[in-house]
Amino acid sequence: MSRDVAEQLKRELSGKTPQEILCWAAAFFVAGECALASSFGAEDQVITDMLEKEQLRIPIFTLDTGRLPQESYDLIEATRKRYGIEIEVLVPERAPLEALLTRYGPNLFYESVELRRECCRIRKVEPLAGKLSTLKGWICGLRREQSVTRTGVELVEWDGSFGLIKINPLADMTDAEVWDYILQHEVPCNVLHAQGYPSIGCAPCTRAVKSGEDIRAGRWWWEMPEHKECGLHREQHKPS
Ligand code: SF4
Repeated sequence: MSRDVAEQLKRELSGKTPQEILCWAAAFFVAGECALASSFGAEDQVITDMLEKEQLRIPIFTLDTGRLPQESYDLIEATRKRYGIEIEVLVPERAPLEALLTRYGPNLFYESVELRRECCRIRKVEPLAGKLSTLKGWICGLRREQSVTRTGVELVEWDGSFGLIKINPLADMTDAEVWDYILQHEVPCNVLHAQGYPSIGCAPCTRAVKSGEDIRAGRWWWEMPEHKECGLHREQHKPS
């Protein structure tokens, strides 16, 4: 796979529905070469539901940082049971995490953007990078509408950070369309959404948002908006 292939696919798949994109991915990649990275957000749950309804055998994995809210663990369990599926759980490597916490303490993310990013790197990015090195394509629930850091999201794009094709089947969907789908299909969702959390990450780094705030305003709320990514989805999504 290469950037050129991704560019060609982007043109070919322009205007397709999320379900059509997922069916294409299941046919295009050899079994096990493409997987859904789910953080169990509303969008990831929509994709999981679509995969099951279309009976597409695309595996799902998730990153357990060790700092998720209990409500997210409850949703992982509810999703396993509802769809009868196995979800691969990736955890951080023990030695660097122990060293980081020993040196800077358990709440280091509030000290500086650099320390926050180091925590995200060890707990999220490194486990993800290890998994992506075994794949040729990964599926994400990113949407252009989600934040100022995601306005350049494409349906299919080359992920230069990790060297594989990235598929964002919901890139064109609005927030209202996501929630219409969830209600219509009774998709299991995180109970925190109903408590004002549109985007849910680790417990200490997520708060509820106020009316009129950006969807991701509650993530690392003490930082400037342009810093609010954890390294899983990098610079490519900013407007050029
Ligand atoms: S979101 Fe917060 S707790 Fe989770 S990995 Fe990033 S800095 Fe660490």
